[in-house]
Amino acid sequence: MKKIHVIGAGPGGLSAALLLQARGFDVTLFEKDDRVGGRSKNIQLGDYRFDLGPTFLMYIDVLKQVFSRAGFRLEEELELMPLNPLYTLVFKDEHLSLSANPEENVAIFDRIEPGLGVSYQRWLTDQELKMLKIKSILEKPFPSFFHLFRKDVLKAAGVAHLSKSVYTMLQTYSKHKTFIHSLSFQAKYLGMASYQAPSIFTILPYLEHVTGLYHVKGGLNQINQKLAELFKERGGTLRLSSPVKEILIEKKRFKGVLLESGEAQYADLVVMNADFAYGMTHLIEQKHLRKYRKEKIEKKKYSVSTWMMYLGINKELDLPHHEILFSDDYDQYLKDLMNQKLTDDISIYVHNPSKIDDSLAPAGKSALYILVPVPNVASNISWEAQESGIKERVFEKIKEKHGLDLKPYIEEMRTYSPKDWMNQENVYLGAVFNLAHGLDQMLFLRPHNQFEDIKGMYLVGGGTHPGSGLPTIYQSALIADDLIANLK
Ligand SMILES: Cc1cc2nc3c(=O)[nH]c(=O)nc-3n(C[C@H](O)[C@H](O)[C@H](O)COP(=O)(O)OP(=O)(O)OC[C@H]3O[C@@H](n4cnc5c(N)ncnc54)[C@H](O)[C@@H]3O)c2cc1C
Repeated sequence: MKKIHVIGAGPGGLSAALLLQARGFDVTLFEKDDRVGGRSKNIQLGDYRFDLGPTFLMYIDVLKQVFSRAGFRLEEELELMPLNPLYTLVFKDEHLSLSANPEENVAIFDRIEPGLGVSYQRWLTDQELKMLKIKSILEKPFPSFFHLFRKDVLKAAGVAHLSKSVYTMLQTYSKHKTFIHSLSFQAKYLGMASYQAPSIFTILPYLEHVTGLYHVKGGLNQINQKLAELFKERGGTLRLSSPVKEILIEKKRFKGVLLESGEAQYADLVVMNADFAYGMTHLIEQKHLRKYRKEKIEKKKYSVSTWMMYLGINKELDLPHHEILFSDDYDQYLKDLMNQKLTDDISIYVHNPSKIDDSLAPAGKSALYILVPVPNVASNISWEAQESGIKERVFEKIKEKHGLDLKPYIEEMRTYSPKDWMNQENVYLGAVFNLAHGLDQMLFLRPHNQFEDIKGMYLVGGGTHPGSGLPTIYQSALIADDLIANLK
């Protein structure tokens, strides 16, 4: 039986480990932390529980596939809670809560401006066609340039409008800013601005509107707990608090891993889930690399980062499950953010899961999560110096939009800066959404799931094909599983 090592118990590593163990491989999963989940782990502050990163799941079909391929049913293993409304969007002069039922959104858009509903319907129809064409591309490995000439890729090129961005594509349906921003803010899930993200990514809001968004009882971190539990149930070995120091390579082939403790463990294959750019610069001796040496990694483009605040609030908050409080001048804010500039006119994401989930805070209290998209570590901003200013802007923004002063109710507080993502989670430059998703770093130009530089090494996670975000990360594990299964 082939032995496989997996490095990192994030969503990518856990899914790959479960799938490969279920196939009968002998899998050992090494995780540096004392718990699973990586950027999606849980954190506890006093009596309050939070997700560190992801707060909602979209396009659940991919996760369903991970569970079913391993012999389980997602719905039986986790309590999925559909979100309706999908989210509340608060702009300078208006706010809207978009429905999980697209038909209701037609009326919602028409209320903003008569005729916007028709634009929305036209947009939905076009996205359906686009999705049909690109689905198969995202589900398969993308190992070489020649795969650009695959039948499915050529078919998709016609609907992908490669020269347009998400923003300019939406302008062809309506020039109304609320319409455009409501259907393009999702580019930030990739750590990009809508005017930079290739228009292909309008499938993100489409998938949200058509297949829904989900909370998981106990938080999204429960997905990781469950994947780990099932992996162990299938006979896999999970080694927590076991940071890998080096991936051992001999004659261009993977040999084993050397742990920080000095222990060496040997195997036939390795799946790396640790952040791709971190892995290339920290876990492999440079002499073994060809395409992805340090100099090359430094020249790549990276996503923005996030500044986080987790608050234990001694009050039941009448805030939606999640909402975005947009900057007054959102276009300018996006430009500043992409130029690595921290502005006063911030946009914030506010997540109040206690509204629908009583397992996260004591009765009558709320576990509140705030995410501020900010430049990554390459900006050289001093996060220590900025901390109190960002906090104040967040509190002011919530007071301005909701008339709510949070400060008197704070029982617990923890903040997390881009530097923390880098130093504590091993995320290169704290660019939490990984390598940027421009066309120059996608498909065969993104690190391949079967790693090109080292034989016997596979890659999963947001820094690899197909890209960042939970569904694509689970998809990377499905692809790696297919590739390894074909070796048998
Ligand atoms: C704030 C935030 C919010 C997000 N929200 C969403 C959302 O709502 N929905 C969504 O779909 N996506 C969201 N994402 C994006 C993405 O889904 C997550 O970032 C996801 O957790 C990334 O998974 P991963 O497997 O690629 O990497 P990671 O979660 O980073 O996993 C890598 C693992 O490798 C481990 N590791 C690193 N170095 C070593 C080493 N030397 N030895 C052993 N182990 C090591 C790490 O500890 C970690 O467990 C969000 C991301 C962030 C940061």
